[in-house]
This record gives sequence, C-alpha cells and structure tokens, in this order.
Amino acid sequence: MEKIKNYINGELVEPVGKEYIDNFNPSIGAVYSLIPDSDEQDVDLATKAAQAAFPAWSKTPKEKRARILQKLASLIENNLDRFAEAESRDNGKPLSLAKRVDIPRAAANFNFYATGVLHYASEAHQMEDTAINYTTREPIGVCGCISPWNLPLYLFSWKIAPALAIGNTVVAKPSEVTPYTAYLLSELCIEAGLPKGVLNIVHGLGHKVGAAITKHTDIPVISFTGGTVTGAEIARTAGPMFKKLSLELGGKNPNIIFDDCDFEKALGTTMHSSFANQGQICLCGSRIFVQRGIYEKFRDAFVAKTKKLTVGNPFDEGTNLGAVVSQPHMEKVLSYVTLAQEEGGTVLTGGHQVKLEGEQENGWYIAPTIIEGLAFDCRTNQEEIFGPVVTIMPFDTIEEVLAMANSTKYGLASTVWTQDITKAHNVAAQLHSGIVWVNTWLLRDLRTPFGGVKASGVGREGGFNAFEFFTEPKNVCIKL
Ligand code: NAD
Repeated sequence: MEKIKNYINGELVEPVGKEYIDNFNPSIGAVYSLIPDSDEQDVDLATKAAQAAFPAWSKTPKEKRARILQKLASLIENNLDRFAEAESRDNGKPLSLAKRVDIPRAAANFNFYATGVLHYASEAHQMEDTAINYTTREPIGVCGCISPWNLPLYLFSWKIAPALAIGNTVVAKPSEVTPYTAYLLSELCIEAGLPKGVLNIVHGLGHKVGAAITKHTDIPVISFTGGTVTGAEIARTAGPMFKKLSLELGGKNPNIIFDDCDFEKALGTTMHSSFANQGQICLCGSRIFVQRGIYEKFRDAFVAKTKKLTVGNPFDEGTNLGAVVSQPHMEKVLSYVTLAQEEGGTVLTGGHQVKLEGEQENGWYIAPTIIEGLAFDCRTNQEEIFGPVVTIMPFDTIEEVLAMANSTKYGLASTVWTQDITKAHNVAAQLHSGIVWVNTWLLRDLRTPFGGVKASGVGREGGFNAFEFFTEPKNVCIKL
C-alpha cells in the first residue's frame, strides 16, 4: 500500500519513528494509503530545517520568491486532473467540485499572494515639521500552519502562500483525515525549485504533530483553521508563550430570506449554501430563516429540489453530494438528526445514511436533510453539525430574525436575501458575523478580510491582512 511521506528540508522522508496510520477513501469506506504517524522528533527536524532556510529566504528578493510561488501555481494548474482526483478520493467530495473549486483555488492562492507581495507597501506617518515615522514589516521566522479536512489543499495553501510570499519559512500540518494533496504539493515544491527547508510538511495526528508545532519554542507564529475546541486548546498553549495566533474556527451560519427576495435566486443559492461539499464548509448556511409571507412556498420548493439531488459516487458526473469525510463524522452528523427529533423537529427530507451499491456499498453517505419545527435556541440550532443537515424556521420581523440569527456562540458568516437595499444594509450592520453576503453566497474576493467573531475565531486572513499577520511591524521615528 502506498506510503505518504513527510517533506522535510527539501526531501520526501519517512517519519523518524517509522510508524504509519491508515488513510481512508470515504467513498468506499476503505483504507487506501498510509500516513506518517509523525511525532515531536519530526516536527523538530522540520523546524530546524525551516530555521536554517529562513535567513536566505527572507533576504531573497520578493520578485524571485514570487516567481517560485507562481511556478508552483502553474504546476498545480498543469496537474489539475491528478490533484482533483486525489482530493476527491481522499475527502469524498464530488470530483466536479474539486476540479471547479478546490484545486483552482489552491493555485489561485499561490498566484494571489505571489503577486500581492509585489504591491505590499509600508507606511509612513509624518508629524508636520517635527518628525517622520516609517514602519517596516519584517517576516518573523518559522510559522506553524495547521489546517482541516473539509477544503484540504484550498485551506492549506491559503495559509502557506502568504507566509512564504512575505519571506517566512513554514512547518505545516495538513489534516490527517485528508493528507494526500499536501503530499502531492510537496512533490511539486521540489519541481518548482523551492529552496530546501522553506516549506516543510509534517503529517500525523493533531494531538501529536499539531500539538508539537503549537508548543515548539522556535515557532513563534501559529495559523490554525479547524474546530473551536481545538482552537481553544491551541490558544491555551500558545497564549502564555506569546505566540502570534490566528484562529479560523467553526460556524453556525444564518441564511435569512426576506419575502421580498428574488425567490428563484434565493432558492437556487440556498441549495448550494446548504449542501455544497456535503454541507462541510465552515461558511454553509445551516440555519435557514424564511419570512412568514413566503415560508410555506419556499419550504415546499426547497424540499422538492433537495429530493432531486443525487447522492452518489464522487467520481460520477451526475453526483451532487459525495461521501462525508469519515465514519465517525457520519455518525456525529446522524446523531444530530436523532437529537433534532428528540427536540421536537420534523425531518422533511433525508435524515438517514444512504447505502450505495457496488464498490461504494461501504461508503459514508448521508441524504441531504431539512428539519422543521425546532426552536431557535435548541441544541440542534446552536451547535455546529458540519454536514448536509439544515434547519428551516419562519420569522416575522427584522428584530425577531436578528435575535435568532445572533443567538449562537458563533459568528462566522451570514447570508441575507432581499431586494430592499436599505434593509440589506440595516441587517448586515446588525449581524454578529465577520462576513455577510447579500443576495449571494461564497462569492470571494481574495483581497477582503476573512474570519469570524465570537467563537468563530480571532484575527483575519485574506488580502494584506495575511501579510500583516505574518510580519512584525517596527516603527522608526526620526526627528527632523
Ligand atoms: P479539527 O480542529 O479537528 O482539526 C483541524 C486541524 O487541527 C487538523 O490538522 C488536526 O490534526 C489539528 N489538531 C487537532 N488537535 C490538535 C491539537 N491538540 N493541537 C494542534 N492541532 C490539532 O477540525 P476538523 O475536524 O479538521 O475541521 C472541521 C472544523 O474546521 C469545523 O469546525 C469547521 O467549521 C472548521 N473550519 C473553519 C474554517 C474557517 O475558515 N473558519 C474553515 C474550514 C473549517
């Protein structure tokens, strides 16, 4: 069986302890490759390599760094089919989605930050005739980048690209649930001519590799995307060490549909925001609030459309929803359907595992699920499910829907559907979330700040925000 390798100091290497863990293909529910079960020793080797590479990489002209990262982006684009197939097999997502979104976005991340660094300027603050301040921004050193399984290469590269472009070196850990495209990326880094030690990828478990990165004394910066509980654990370790910390965490996003919306557009996009990637996107709108005037019409149309979605082999062209990422995750998602029923909810469609035939008979598939009749403050409506399960609720007034939308501990993204621009501004201003989409969903301009409030995280990624995070400012004040 194929063994994935770590990428340390420019080479593909076995873990020091020579131990491996299983890597599953969720669409067939079977092991198909092995991942290094790395530990502190591997993280330490990676950190030493990154430290050794830092002086030269940080002094490399940004134009040269940009060229190498753009070469990497081109190589990803040239390998689109291979990467998309690998991502789909590793994660369970439809191949069409990996081809259209995940892999092109990974290439775009490298291109965006490679070119962005050429335009990043420092600031000066003049004090009339008295003095002038100029602020430099220096790369910091070795950055730890830890990413989740839902958008594997997309989110992995979203951290690595700005860290490298601005002149840091990196020790990165992809999710052990979906390590494969990070492994393929390491092969391309060698081909692109990335100097050895600039990027190091250590595979393995969160409580071993992730924890070792978090507590390593020579890694002063941690950029983490994942669950809120893990984020809190990382903060407990990294906080007292005064590390720079960016946390992109969970969500329980409201999708607010007013009765003056463009009905067909709201309906069509709500299908995506509910079930894209099997509902496993931190930005999915899992709580759907529909104004009373169109509630029944919207609910019935939404249920009818959802029933037509195809749950199937991720490699088939007609598949809308592939497999969820793992058996434990499938069980967790289905346990929330049981909880919802105990809390008084009615399952309008879905609510069960889907058993496919043939090679996929042991795969982990869930029917897209809509639940009605729940109170806004019950557990089902407060906790992140992170699967193809949404709830739908009526509302009457703006005040009422804002109170319900803002009632969770999370605050990542919200969606608002209305043709009334004044109402849109008003509601957007009062939503407790880092991102608000009006009459659209997941429309991304990579220059905009990305991140959440409350338990959805601390800090912002995207655009120059990422360069600010991955640099240390120094102000120099010169008396005139
Ligand atoms: P997770 O927190 O279980 O794991 C994320 C990463 O952290 C993995 O690489 C894991 O190995 C590692 N990890 C686990 N324990 C660790 C520890 N003690 N120390 C250091 N690292 C550790 O999350 P997941 O299940 O992979 O991903 C799903 C979660 O990610 C959801 O909550 C989702 O909302 C969130 N997410 C957030 C965003 C965002 O931008 N806000 C984007 C995608 C996913």
